[in-house]
Amino acid sequence: MTNPPFLLLHHIGSADVPSDNSAVFELRSPTDGSLVGHVSRGAAIDVDRAVASARAAFDAWSTTPAPVRGEILFRAATLLEARKDTIAAVMAKEMGKRLEEARGDIQEAIDTAFYAGSEGRRLFGRTAPSELRDKMGFTLRRPIGVVGVITAWNFPVAVPSWKILPALVCGNTIVWKPAEEAPASGALFAQALWDAGLPPGVLNIVHGLGEEVGAAIVAHPDTQVLAFTGSTSVGRSIAETGGRLLKRISLEMGGKNPVIVMPDADLGLAIDGVLWGAFGTAGQRCTATSRLIVVGDAHSRMIGDLVERAKSMRLGDPMDSTTEVGPLVSEAQRARVHGFVERAIADGTTLRCGGRIPTDASLGGGWFYPATILDEVVRGSELAMSEVFGPVLAVIRADSFDEAIEIANEVPYGLSSSIYTRDINQAIRAVHRLQSGITYVNAPTIGAEAHFPFGGVKDTGNGHREGGWAPYDFFTELKTVYIDYSGALQRAQIDNRDD
Ligand code: NAD
Repeated sequence: MTNPPFLLLHHIGSADVPSDNSAVFELRSPTDGSLVGHVSRGAAIDVDRAVASARAAFDAWSTTPAPVRGEILFRAATLLEARKDTIAAVMAKEMGKRLEEARGDIQEAIDTAFYAGSEGRRLFGRTAPSELRDKMGFTLRRPIGVVGVITAWNFPVAVPSWKILPALVCGNTIVWKPAEEAPASGALFAQALWDAGLPPGVLNIVHGLGEEVGAAIVAHPDTQVLAFTGSTSVGRSIAETGGRLLKRISLEMGGKNPVIVMPDADLGLAIDGVLWGAFGTAGQRCTATSRLIVVGDAHSRMIGDLVERAKSMRLGDPMDSTTEVGPLVSEAQRARVHGFVERAIADGTTLRCGGRIPTDASLGGGWFYPATILDEVVRGSELAMSEVFGPVLAVIRADSFDEAIEIANEVPYGLSSSIYTRDINQAIRAVHRLQSGITYVNAPTIGAEAHFPFGGVKDTGNGHREGGWAPYDFFTELKTVYIDYSGALQRAQIDNRDD
């Protein structure tokens, strides 16, 4: 499957299978439009088969000791390490991520596999003293059932691993729909789990489109848990449908992440961080820096160098190690990004660099877009408020620390944020006041580590976290156990203080 063009099938039970109606869709490289492969286009009937397979596997998997489940994850991590370059090449080909970053995407899954595998020996419950004599109470964690996983294309391996690996070690079974733009690297990630000994039916994949396969997973009565990463609009619709069915739902959605630069900051460091945060992965990260809020004269002292550095960023093939900005994922995505830029310019915003669709023949007709900086962006304007998801940085001026925090917080999203300052008091005040699930001090808005919780507030999330120790609450049901070893009827809550 690693050599294009390939045919990517669903994986249900122990077999790779086509869609019930044999439908497929084309997967083309965003770098040059070449055919990467054909992918099975699933429908509700394929989801039914996959959910039935996951249900059938649940009893045996959920009663497998958690440390044994964890050992499979350790073996998968080792296989992923050995296959990292191969999977990274497929990822770069299918969705345009630079090879170095694609390796990092897979490394995140490897780290998560080791972390989640070791959680098999923890999955702690709690104990507390009973209010009665000769009685004890404690909690333990129970697997829930079938988890429906729906993921975005921009982290085709890392983000699914944050959901799938904790869900597995907790004893659940899974039906996963990878993003239609990047299904092949995800399938290779799953292959490592199957090759590591994951029993048939425990992890099933149905490829296809969101409105077809994704919607069927959401509406299926037997997917008790839904774990989604993607846009806020789709997340909201999943919450509506899944909420009516009383499902447990975790949503990781969009961002509009600010970097605040104070006048006392190390401006060279801030420029390095803003360039990496705004233009790494061509700005197609949920945590990408999309707003630079510059306080006072930091603006005049940094904007020139920032723009010069952005102008020199090299667009090109993600497989070429000298490339700094790869292509956008699709023609539609590039048109959307360019639309934001054109409307901002029409509104009077100053274009400092980029902002034009490249025409050089060397870029081979791929969906490239240059590093773009728009200055003097007006608070409350479309570019100041909406997620662009491309290499576009909106620069907004502020007169004070308080105003910068106010600007940072006035968007509907709240994923990541950052402040550059040498003033420790101000940094810590910002940590408390910035409305986001993640805040960096003197570092860019991107760079999550696998062993820390990840997620956002406001329209970015619905209160859950992935990464680190956080997802094990989400993927288990707590059971409270009381054991009365008094040999007599003891009644809690009433008349138990007589003796
Ligand atoms: P998207 O919402 O269009 O698609 C995400 C997934 O949902 C895809 O697999 C898609 O097929 C599926 N889907 C689409 N419509 C559906 C429906 N009606 N029912 C069920 N599933 C459906 O998002 P995208 O454009 O692929 O990804 C970009 C978005 O993802 C950005 O907003 C980005 O910020 C966000 N994202 C968030 C995080 C995070 O952790 N917060 C991480 C990565 C990406």
